[in-house]
Amino acid sequence: MNIHEHQAKAVLAEFGVPVPRGFAAFTPDEAAKAAETLGTPVFVVKSQIHAGGRGKGKFEGLGPDAKGGVRVVKSVAEVRGNAEEMLGRVLVTHQTGPKGKQVNRLYIEEGAAIAKEFYLSLLVDRQSSMVSVVASTEGGMDIEEVAHATPEKIHSFSIDPATGVWPTHQRALAKALGLTGGLAKEAASLLTQLYTAFLAKDMAMLEVNPLIVTADDHLRVLDAKVSFDGNALYRHPDIKALRDETEEDPKEIEASKHDLAYIALDGEIGCMVNGAGLAMATMDIIKLYGAEPANFLDVGGGASKEKVIAAFKIITADPAVKGILVNIFGGIMRCDIIAEGVVAAVKEVGLKVPLVVRLEGTNVELGKKIINESGLNVIAANDLSDGAEKIVAAVKGAR
Ligand code: GDP
Ligand code: MN
Repeated sequence: MNIHEHQAKAVLAEFGVPVPRGFAAFTPDEAAKAAETLGTPVFVVKSQIHAGGRGKGKFEGLGPDAKGGVRVVKSVAEVRGNAEEMLGRVLVTHQTGPKGKQVNRLYIEEGAAIAKEFYLSLLVDRQSSMVSVVASTEGGMDIEEVAHATPEKIHSFSIDPATGVWPTHQRALAKALGLTGGLAKEAASLLTQLYTAFLAKDMAMLEVNPLIVTADDHLRVLDAKVSFDGNALYRHPDIKALRDETEEDPKEIEASKHDLAYIALDGEIGCMVNGAGLAMATMDIIKLYGAEPANFLDVGGGASKEKVIAAFKIITADPAVKGILVNIFGGIMRCDIIAEGVVAAVKEVGLKVPLVVRLEGTNVELGKKIINESGLNVIAANDLSDGAEKIVAAVKGAR
C-alpha cells in the first residue's frame, strides 16, 4: 500500500526524523490558512499524488511552460493562487503514465534553503533477507538515470534485522554522502531513525529524494515516498487508515474486497486463472500470440463460486476487455466450481465479448458439462496454447 508524501513525513516525524513543517490542504482556503499558520518567508505548494516526478510534471491544460507539481512561492496570496490552479487538475509525470493523476490535495510546507541534494532509500532485499540502504550524492533527480549514467555514484549496504544498525553502517552512510563532523552525526541518527521506522511499520520501501543539507548545515528529509507490505497491514490500523482509495484503480479495490489477487493492466484480454505461476504463464502466452493481457488475476486455490462470480464481474466491467480467457488447472480448485461461477456470472451480467475456457484437472468432465449445457457461447480449448491462440484469434477477428 502506498501513502501520500505528507502522511509519510508525519509517520517519519514520529520517529524523530527531521522534516519541514507543513499542512495538508484540500481547498485553496485551507492552503492559504496553512501558509498563514506557517508564517515563513517561503512556502512550497506540493501536489499530493501517489507518483513521483511531480516537480518536473506537467499539468493538463496549462501549456508546456507552466510550473510543475511542486512550486516554491513567497506569499500567502501566491499559495492561494497556485492552489486554485493545481487542485482538481490532472498532473502528468513520468511515473503516472500519459493519463496522469488528478490532484485532490496539496501539502503546504515551509520552504527550505537547499545547499545539497542527496538520495537515500531503504528497501527489503529478499535475496539476503536484509534491509538494503541505497545512498547517493546525486539526489533530487531520477535515481534510475544516475544508476545508468554513473553507477559508481550509487552506494549500498545491508543491515541485518537480527543485529540492527551498527556504527559501521552509520559511517558507511556518512562516507557515501561525503559528510563529516556534525553532518556525519546527523546522518548516523537519521539512519537509525529511518531504519527503526522501516521495521516498526513493516515498510516495503522508504525513499527520500531529496535528502538535503540546508544552508545552515543540517540534514532534512525534503521528499518521502513510503510503501507498506500489504500482508502486514492487519497489525497497523494507523497505517491502514491512511489509505486513499481515490489513488487506486476501482477494479483493484473491488478485487481486494473479495480477497482476489488482481492487478489491472493495459491490454485487451481479460484473464481468469488459478495460481500465480499459471497466471504469469497465461499472460506470457497471450503476448506470444500477439495480444496483451488486460489484467493479472489469480482466483486462488480454494475459491468459492461467489469469488469466481466477483472475479468474472470485475473482468467484464472493464471496457478495455475485448475477450476473456479462463485458464484453470484444477488441483485444489475444482473445475466445476469455476464453471458454475462463470455460468452464474454470465447469466447475471451478460457476455458481450468472446470467451475461451480451458479446464483441466479435478472434476474437469463435470466442469465441461456445466459449461456445455449452459447454452453459453463459449469457445472450448484443449490446452494453454490452444486457448491463447483461440482468444487472440477471436479478438483480432472481431475488430
Ligand atoms: P518529486 O518531483 O515528486 O520527487 O517532488 P520533490 O518533493 O522531490 O520536489 C521536487 C524538487 O523541488 C526537489 O528536488 C527540490 O529541488 C524542489 N523543492 C522541494 N521543496 C523545496 C523547498 O522547500 N525549497 C526549495 N528551494 N526547493 C524545493
Ligand atoms: Mn522527490
